[in-house]
Amino acid sequence: MAPRTPDPLHVVVLGGGIAAAEAVLALRAHADDRVTIELIAADPWLTLRPAATVSPFSGTPVGRFDLAELARDAGATLIVDRVEAVAPATRRVRLASGAQREYDALILALGARARAAVPGALTFRDQRDAAQLEHLLADLRRGELESLAITAPAGVSWTLPAYELALLAAAEVEHLGLSTRVSLVTPEHSPLEVFGGAASTAVAGVLAERGVDLATSSTPAAVDRHGLRLADGGAVPADRVVAAPALVGRRLPGVPADFGGFVATRALGGVVGLDGVYTAGDMTSFPVKQGGLAAQQADTVAAVVAARAGAHPPMPLLTSILRTQLFGAPGPMFLEASIDREGRPVPGASYVYEEAPWCPTGTFFGRHLTPWIAERALAAA
Ligand SMILES: Cc1cc2nc3c(=O)[nH]c(=O)nc-3n(C[C@H](O)[C@H](O)[C@H](O)COP(=O)(O)OP(=O)(O)OC[C@H]3O[C@@H](n4cnc5c(N)ncnc54)[C@H](O)[C@@H]3O)c2cc1C
Repeated sequence: MAPRTPDPLHVVVLGGGIAAAEAVLALRAHADDRVTIELIAADPWLTLRPAATVSPFSGTPVGRFDLAELARDAGATLIVDRVEAVAPATRRVRLASGAQREYDALILALGARARAAVPGALTFRDQRDAAQLEHLLADLRRGELESLAITAPAGVSWTLPAYELALLAAAEVEHLGLSTRVSLVTPEHSPLEVFGGAASTAVAGVLAERGVDLATSSTPAAVDRHGLRLADGGAVPADRVVAAPALVGRRLPGVPADFGGFVATRALGGVVGLDGVYTAGDMTSFPVKQGGLAAQQADTVAAVVAARAGAHPPMPLLTSILRTQLFGAPGPMFLEASIDREGRPVPGASYVYEEAPWCPTGTFFGRHLTPWIAERALAAA
């Protein structure tokens, strides 16, 4: 008699962003038919937030992809609903519709909440604030702004959106022959500090080339009629100020969270204190919140769950790699760096390229998700 095939492990993935999408695709790739997958997302679309900085300048809406299609391609079931609580003792999740779903393994990928941290500034979270930024750009293009400051509050490790906004605004000023001064004000000790060494030096160079005034070690406090006030009492003159938000965790009843609302994990993504529950992406307490990292964490978690289901996936890497394209630079510019377990750049592992060595290129890289997106984009063209 043939040995009985064990029942597949039922995996529930919560969220509809980069981390959840990568987790679903990676799970199927790693575990094949050893798992059944249910994706529960509040929104039926995967929206590519990393492209949100360019959209108000180009007028092109941020790309979004149908999660139903992604679920179908991964042999998963999509439920569009909001998760309200987890009951780890009975391995269930409760949804806003009143439904309950059971799981053998649960992957949490609900992201973080963005909140304004510089009173008086236009807080640019992502595509949701595109219209406000477009109004500001219209004033800029009419020559109504003498000065514009872009800033990031203390505690934000992924400051790239602020750099892109400053560079794109400065490019606009140059293109239209305006005299607006564009400043970038950041608490970081060096530009785009999380990338370290070579990338940071190169970013300082492109800011200078674009004529952006850079103020490092400068923490924004609030905006008043003179401009941007700094925490140390200084000020940066500015008619208008655009600020990146601070991120806070999404607390989910039943899931332990730290003071900031983020979920602490063990090295391979298991939630501390809960059996069979994993997390990836901006929701975790890892200090750097970035799409490519979200995808790497999701891939790791998917490999761990696949192994639990009896598969033999390749061993996940424990180093994290940041990869991105810097929009607004005068020419194509791709940055790469390794970061350690505390989110600090690894010395000697910071690189700058004119042509990305990873493929397909894009605003973020996920081993399974980026090729899926590239295929969808090709099919739609
Ligand atoms: C302007 C900007 C530019 C950026 N640029 C880059 C870049 O160039 N490169 C890069 O790699 N990263 C970049 N990032 C960071 C990147 O976008 C995030 O790190 C990434 O989106 C995090 O993915 P996530 O899946 O963890 O969370 P999210 O993208 O926040 O997704 C969370 C998902 O969970 C869903 N959800 C929330 N609550 C519930 C609930 N209760 N029930 C069900 N579903 C729920 C949401 O609807 C959403 O679909 C940028 C971010 C911004 C804002």
